[in-house]
Amino acid sequence: MTFKLNDPVLVLNANFEPLNVCTIRRAMGLIVGDKANLVLNGRGYIHTITEAYPCPSIIRLQRMIKRPHPKVKLNKQEVFRRDNYTCQYCGQHSDRLTLDHVMPRHLGGAHSWENLVTACPACNHRKGGRTVAQANMRLLRQPQAPSASALYIFGRYLNHHNEWVPYVDGW
Ligand SMILES: [Zn+2]
Repeated sequence: MTFKLNDPVLVLNANFEPLNVCTIRRAMGLIVGDKANLVLNGRGYIHTITEAYPCPSIIRLQRMIKRPHPKVKLNKQEVFRRDNYTCQYCGQHSDRLTLDHVMPRHLGGAHSWENLVTACPACNHRKGGRTVAQANMRLLRQPQAPSASALYIFGRYLNHHNEWVPYVDGW
């Protein structure tokens, strides 16, 4: 099995709650430094001259870390993902997607989940710098911040790392 030292590793809190994603390199450091244990290997071994170390896919911290409830990061890719890669005006899937401020920025519109939607280039162009009403267009649905379930937050990794699903599901 091939892997790179920058490949993602799922990090679980001491109570098994999924925390974040780090690199294999970082995960190995945490294991060697006695800060984390291997939960799932499944990727083979890293060979040094004298030893072979299991190459982690999931690790678990030995000490519980406190942190606020996770939020989905607001960025273009996450807005596209929330909107299922469809234009929120015409409903079309498009290879080229753009980000639209529902209330234009120059009219005081915020850069927020509630004011950002995915738009195809044609709809974005048609709407221009106008409000939805001014442009005589309609939104398919009112945009909201996505729910922050672990399944959603780590969703983009799960195609390539479906061994993570049982550890992410339900949080
Ligand atoms: Zn469109």
